[in-house]
Amino acid sequence: MDFQHDAGLDAFREEVRAFVREDLPPDLANKPVGSVRSMRPDLARWQQILNRKGWGAPYWAKADGGTGWSVLQRLVFDEECVAAGAPTQDGFAQKLLGPALNAFASAEQKAEHVPHILDGSRLWCQGFSEPGSGSDLASLRTRAERDGDFYVVNGQKTWTSYAHESDWIFMLVRTDATVKKQAGISFLLVDMKTPGITVRPIRSIDDCHHLNETFFDNVRVPVANRIGAEGDGWTITKFLLNNEHASAADLPILRRGLSRVRTLAAAQRAGREPLIAQPAFALRLARLDAEVNAIAMMVQRVAAMESDHSPLAHAMGSILKVRGTEAQQRITELMTEALGDYAAVAYPEPHDACLGEPLPQQDVGRGIANDMFFRRASSIYGGTNEVQRGIIAKMLFQL
Ligand SMILES: Cc1cc2nc3c(=O)[nH]c(=O)nc-3n(C[C@H](O)[C@H](O)[C@H](O)COP(=O)(O)OP(=O)(O)OC[C@H]3O[C@@H](n4cnc5c(N)ncnc54)[C@H](O)[C@@H]3O)c2cc1C
Repeated sequence: MDFQHDAGLDAFREEVRAFVREDLPPDLANKPVGSVRSMRPDLARWQQILNRKGWGAPYWAKADGGTGWSVLQRLVFDEECVAAGAPTQDGFAQKLLGPALNAFASAEQKAEHVPHILDGSRLWCQGFSEPGSGSDLASLRTRAERDGDFYVVNGQKTWTSYAHESDWIFMLVRTDATVKKQAGISFLLVDMKTPGITVRPIRSIDDCHHLNETFFDNVRVPVANRIGAEGDGWTITKFLLNNEHASAADLPILRRGLSRVRTLAAAQRAGREPLIAQPAFALRLARLDAEVNAIAMMVQRVAAMESDHSPLAHAMGSILKVRGTEAQQRITELMTEALGDYAAVAYPEPHDACLGEPLPQQDVGRGIANDMFFRRASSIYGGTNEVQRGIIAKMLFQL
């Protein structure tokens, strides 16, 4: 790990900053993000702009159509985009499915899907979790039975983020119930327009619709849509979930959150003083600031372990996930407190990120309480923090 000043990285930051300044249309900047993914039209427009620049896949190798950036470059790119309020990319396609396609898919499968990921014309959702199969994912029961050149899929997925506005789903199915549970799982790509798929909304405590239950009723999926061999699903899943440890803490989001707390606390008053000058509040803010700086150092450490597949590298990804999500929760709680009564005004009105229109007269507190409620889930999705702690213990202490 090297904490020396990196002039090359500074130059890269300038390049990204200049690009974002020039090419991010003002009407796309600082639009509300529905939990973690931007609204479809915003995301697609920004993806096209990035793709024209050759930056359509910041996380992939050059040979796969990506930028070939280092982990630190990717972090810089993310930081500059978040700071400028750019829309998000499709994280499911970019960080999960994409690397799995690049590693395991056939040339035909890549030719079918990669161009649509790059130009933003095909959005993806992830169909892993089922009722009763979340942390214990390998116990999943959605069946795929062979019928000639098709699988017939029956079952239910749950918590399927953005299924209602995705074109395709990558999902895990049970193709063999007679072998060890991990060995009977296969990885399928399914067009969401296929007859037999029903998506039902789950409205979450942040009062948004991003979650769904997804039902599969005799859904016919070409065998050609399977990635890898039958029974390879678990291997692909382990690969896909172990990617991108350095981004597990969502550092750019933490930094943006802290800066928002500062702005709010400078504008709000506690008696005669600005809230930010109140010692108890200032102390909590300083502690969070120190925590985010510590996380930033850890991210650098993980970035330096890019091609390291040791138990330590694995554990570091889990540590970042736990500390990053806990910091996210504390930052959004502090932000809500800083808003005081305004937070209650902004909630439970529907979050404008769901409606696509700003709410009148709520510029200060727009979406803050909703975000605070949504972040309760950050220690659940992507593998719960309790499970992460189990991984840390296993990797570091062989427990
Ligand atoms: C906002 C949100 C978005 C999501 N999006 C998606 C998505 O797009 N696609 C998708 O497939 N899934 C998605 N999920 C599902 C998510 O991956 C699961 O919720 C998560 O893996 C936990 O599974 P579970 O909900 O079944 O809880 P369970 O596994 O039933 O866990 C219940 C409790 O038991 C604890 N626990 C379980 N096992 C252990 C263990 N071994 N050691 C210690 N504690 C344990 C858990 O930490 C938790 O507190 C999403 C979830 C949320 C909240």
